[in-house]
Amino acid sequence: MFCPKCGKEVPDGSSFCPGCSARLREPADVSSKSRLATALFAFFLGSFGAHRFYIGKTGSAVAMLVLTILGWATVWFFVGIAFFVAVGIWSLIDFIFAVAGSMRDSQGKLISNW
Ligand SMILES: [Zn+2]
Repeated sequence: MFCPKCGKEVPDGSSFCPGCSARLREPADVSSKSRLATALFAFFLGSFGAHRFYIGKTGSAVAMLVLTILGWATVWFFVGIAFFVAVGIWSLIDFIFAVAGSMRDSQGKLISNW
């Protein structure tokens, strides 16, 4: 294969061009999921676990959804507020991780591409 930037021939499967150090392909541990989408889902729909459904972490996504439903079910005697706070902090942390590019998808790949 050839480097698309400088045209130098590089060994197949190289991550970087040895000539101009251009990145030739994404490292294998980078997720194909969008970092922007993950962050937006976490910010706007985080309490429903939308961002975790998106990145394939269905188990914890359902857990967030259940916490939110429990919150709505018990909010009339104030217990629900504790659930809302818990899931709110959880989705805020997820949002910060997503923006920082430290979030991993269900295959353990880093979601670093916007
Ligand atoms: Zn090059």
